[in-house]
Amino acid sequence: MTADFLIELERLLGRRGLTHDPALTEPWLTDWRGRYHGRALALASPASTDEVAATVSLCARHGVPIVPQGGNSSMSGGATPDASGTALLLSLRRLDPIGPVEDGQVRCGAGVILQNLHDAAERHGLRFPLTLGGKGSATVGGLIATNAGGTQVLRHGTMRDQVLGLEAVLADGSIIDLMSPLKKDNRGFDLKQVLIGSEGTLGIVTAATLRLKPRIAGRSVIWAGLETIHDARALLLLAQQRAAAALEGFEVLPRHCLAAVLNYLPAAREPLAWAAPWYALIELVADNADDAGRLPELAESLLGEALVRDLVLDATIAANEAQAEALWLLRDSISPAERAIGPAMQHDISVPVADMADFIAATVPAVEARFAGTTALAFGHLGDGNVHFHVLAPPGAERGAWEESVGKHISRFVHDEVTAWHGSISAEHGIGQMKRAELARLADPARLAMMRAIKQALDPQGLLNPGKLL
Ligand SMILES: Cc1cc2nc3c(=O)[nH]c(=O)nc-3n(C[C@H](O)[C@H](O)[C@H](O)COP(=O)(O)OP(=O)(O)OC[C@H]3O[C@@H](n4cnc5c(N)ncnc54)[C@H](O)[C@@H]3O)c2cc1C
Repeated sequence: MTADFLIELERLLGRRGLTHDPALTEPWLTDWRGRYHGRALALASPASTDEVAATVSLCARHGVPIVPQGGNSSMSGGATPDASGTALLLSLRRLDPIGPVEDGQVRCGAGVILQNLHDAAERHGLRFPLTLGGKGSATVGGLIATNAGGTQVLRHGTMRDQVLGLEAVLADGSIIDLMSPLKKDNRGFDLKQVLIGSEGTLGIVTAATLRLKPRIAGRSVIWAGLETIHDARALLLLAQQRAAAALEGFEVLPRHCLAAVLNYLPAAREPLAWAAPWYALIELVADNADDAGRLPELAESLLGEALVRDLVLDATIAANEAQAEALWLLRDSISPAERAIGPAMQHDISVPVADMADFIAATVPAVEARFAGTTALAFGHLGDGNVHFHVLAPPGAERGAWEESVGKHISRFVHDEVTAWHGSISAEHGIGQMKRAELARLADPARLAMMRAIKQALDPQGLLNPGKLL
């Protein structure tokens, strides 16, 4: 049965589109964090929407589960198959055409890598206003399937806000074309939005029409040292008042994260003369030359006011693009730097923006008091009410064993706290396999029932990304 399936699949996709070679398959069977490892029947890499549709239709006939995969940069094990080896790993990376670019929109295959999309937009004097640390790997299909966020959500919204049109292959192999970028369309449910954020469990994204923005005319990047997370919150409010629409990003990190990055990147330098307990990375941007000319003054007056109000201990403003990039590199390197330190339980959480400083101030000491020897830290998108709340294991703890024992209790504790603060246990990384049990434990039963009903209707055999999300 399986042999028939694989013979038919090879006939469909050709030798370039299907491999069993362990050397080619292995790198895609472990998640980015190295936490999950699976097996697969084979790795299929169709080169067109029609090939994806034929592959999915064949899987439906043979009852073969499918794990869709883009860049495999998921932070929640969403693209890693289970250990049974019964699923087909379906890579969308060959669906990578970009263009045409017109009317401030671009048509992209699902396999287009985010960095390549940025470069293509740039060549047309435009930009794609979503970025994140995994931009060298993450694909358009993966970004859509996880409704990714990143560091520009404050001004431009998540992936949901960038998708104007979508094409997908459904569980029976049919193609749904929602590509037309209509400004107004009230023919019932917004099916495109149902697919966005569904983590490959409702359909396979094959292409999208994305919104582009004019290229910025200038930016000012500020690195500020702060005493407390409440000062960061007050600085955010001040920046929102003074910079208004020019405020594009507002990230925070504690000293521990900067120290880890400086250790990880030997060429990186301390941005300030002395260490502060907290840092804020603020990006102000201008859409036209006039506003760009006023940016330095805006940044300086914002910092001046913050200093007078005692919100900031010290600060620096990047003097040029190279310095701006160097500051962002410190922020974008937190995840790999921390991964190099040792085991940690990661929680990608949100609470209402107004409550985030109180949440961090209360929950960090609560976790450290309850779980002896751990270090809790929160960093990321304060402006969106979303931080990555990581709890590092005591030195010397063994990764797998600690994660499966103490780590699980830590995650339950953090997620219970988040739920008590009316927050979300998955702000931007998705549920994947990592938080599936926690979603089932904590989500409102009505929400779960509605999601399960949609899943049952669209994928009655349960073949699309089994063991993830629901
Ligand atoms: C250093 C680093 C920093 C990151 N920072 C952020 C951040 O700030 N914000 C953020 O939101 N994320 C962040 N991420 C996570 C990650 O980059 C995003 O989740 C991204 O959207 C995943 O894209 P991918 O192509 O790698 O998808 P994969 O990891 O391959 O897959 C992710 C999920 O989408 C599904 N999927 C993939 N392609 C398709 C498709 N074509 N159709 C249907 N389903 C599909 C998979 O089955 C899986 O469930 C970061 C990752 C790294 C490594």
